[in-house]
Amino acid sequence: MEAQDSIPDDMQPTNREDKVCWLPYRDGKFSIHSAWDNWRSHRPKVPWCQSIWFKFHIPRVRTIVWMAIQERLSTLNRLVMFGIKDSSLCVLCSAQVEDHNHLFFACPFSCQIWNALQSKLNVSWPSMDWMELVERMNVNISGNSSATTIMKLVFTCAIYNVWQERNLRIFQSTKSPETVIIKKVESMVRCRILSVNNFKEDNTNGWFIRVWKLPPSVPKKAPINN
Ligand SMILES: [Zn+2]
Repeated sequence: MEAQDSIPDDMQPTNREDKVCWLPYRDGKFSIHSAWDNWRSHRPKVPWCQSIWFKFHIPRVRTIVWMAIQERLSTLNRLVMFGIKDSSLCVLCSAQVEDHNHLFFACPFSCQIWNALQSKLNVSWPSMDWMELVERMNVNISGNSSATTIMKLVFTCAIYNVWQERNLRIFQSTKSPETVIIKKVESMVRCRILSVNNFKEDNTNGWFIRVWKLPPSVPKKAPINN
């Protein structure tokens, strides 16, 4: 009935064969992507989109980082607020309230991890809070060079591993020092880069290849378009 109703009143029958067209797209072809794009509400991109939506992201990491950036993880301060927990004391330092800002940046445990990783990214971030860090990262990692890809991976894997360590301490009573978490981040980043076959060679990655101990065969030259 809807299809019938959509036929204009002044349309005259012709001898040509009827054809079904998907009007929202110019080529008239239906796809799930075009349907989703047509029905979803279009909003401006969030300032941190580049931090988590990038080519070589790790899906399970991206989910945690997406929640962390929106401050939607079940941190202890939120669980106390909901009456689920009695104490909001950070399990990483046992000194301050665990909220997103403290857990991922202000906590001395996390600080040591960020400091070690900064030296491996050739960057230096001044003292700032969690959301400032997210915004700064977005500025530092614009573009798709191999260096920015490594930065994005390090940023997201560091958040993921701090959250994992916090969960292990709460739910499994195991405890790893900062040095182990740094190694986990480095290992995760290296494994991801070694697992892709289109990590691009460009003039930014020589230093990163050396520091991250990647084999010279990893970067692939971008094809020359004649
Ligand atoms: Zn802490």
